[in-house]
Amino acid sequence: MTLRTLESLGSLAGARVIVRCDLNVPLKDGRITDDGRVRASLPTLNALINQGARVVIISHLGRPDGAPDAQYSLAPVAQRLSELLGKPVTFASDTTGAGAHDAVSALEDGDVALLENLRFNPGETSKDEAERTAFAAKLAAFGDAFVSDGFGVVHRKQASVYELAKALPSAAGQLISTELDVLERLTESPERPYAVVLGGSKVSDKLGVIGHLLPRVDSLLVGGGMLFTFLAALGHPVGSSLLEADQIDTVKGYLAKAKELGVDIVLPTDVVVASKFGADAEHVVRPIDGIEDTEWGASGLGLDIGPETSATFAAIIRAARTVFWNGPMGVFELAPFAAGTKSIAQALTEIDGLGVVGGGDSAAAVRALGFDDEQFGHISTGGGASLEFLEGKRLPGLEVLGWQQ
Ligand code: ADP
Ligand code: MG
Repeated sequence: MTLRTLESLGSLAGARVIVRCDLNVPLKDGRITDDGRVRASLPTLNALINQGARVVIISHLGRPDGAPDAQYSLAPVAQRLSELLGKPVTFASDTTGAGAHDAVSALEDGDVALLENLRFNPGETSKDEAERTAFAAKLAAFGDAFVSDGFGVVHRKQASVYELAKALPSAAGQLISTELDVLERLTESPERPYAVVLGGSKVSDKLGVIGHLLPRVDSLLVGGGMLFTFLAALGHPVGSSLLEADQIDTVKGYLAKAKELGVDIVLPTDVVVASKFGADAEHVVRPIDGIEDTEWGASGLGLDIGPETSATFAAIIRAARTVFWNGPMGVFELAPFAAGTKSIAQALTEIDGLGVVGGGDSAAAVRALGFDDEQFGHISTGGGASLEFLEGKRLPGLEVLGWQQ
């Protein structure tokens, strides 16, 4: 079965349409530092506004504990959305209470309202299906139809993603359709050579994808925090670097499997070792077996791939026809450790083929380092969701919209 798209809902003029977006943007001191997810939501919202629908947007932001928490308010997002849409966006100060009721009742054709953070309500992420269903029913009362467009959450069985889609006539928005088109190109006969680059800090989350990808790719490049579990598996000391000691055996298994399959797991040859975690840390470049071989001994930590590795990785990426990259190569937020991530991003902009960047921090990294979205084949709004897709896992938020792998 294929995904139900917007057209399947028929004419939406005058209808109240609830749109689940992923407006989970990074904030610093109440300001949005990367509005990529807001911009990615615009095509569906504009399509609905142009049809004369009454648009009710719902989203989560961060991880509040099922209760209102001002630091996770969507208020700054409502303002940015209004700027980008070029029209007022009414912001409701609650999700299903009087504020939301008033905001939705006041909507006229083509108007837009944004309700407060879904996760201020325990029902959104509850493990109890009955609680999620009850919360979804409250949301459903605000709409005649539901459009699911928060690609970053389709791997979650949450009230606004799953139960709400069952409670109303529902379809996928354009962002989800676009994301799926690209991911299908990565899983169904990608042009070769096909390289996958993995990094970042959510090591245990990401190791799982390796087992599934190995038989499908030509090379797998490993950087970021994940790298040190590989080095430990090879018997190298890693100082105070990020390490998942309980995953060392899993990683040994991957190295053996890669050999058997003839796939290259390409590990760095050098790393940037720092005296501490901080922008003012001292740092030196060392070969991968020399991380503890500095004046800081075992307290030194690897915070970026080294220049030799950057050059090797960049050459493999440039020679590939398909590349998927998830996870920064180093702690790019700190200037001295951003070079590895920058050179990988640069190489990805130069490939002759499809280059995909996936992951919240990876997308934020390429923008923070001065690249434009248009320089890449695709920047995915979903990190966990795209990885789970590539792993071949079932995604409840897509299945409920008619999609089957
Ligand atoms: P994404 O959101 O793109 O999926 P992750 O959330 O897994 O990526 O990881 C992003 C984080 O990884 C960044 O904040 C970055 O600082 C961190 N990181 C990258 N390399 C290292 C490293 N060597 N040690 C510690 N953290 C790292
Ligand atoms: Mg992240």
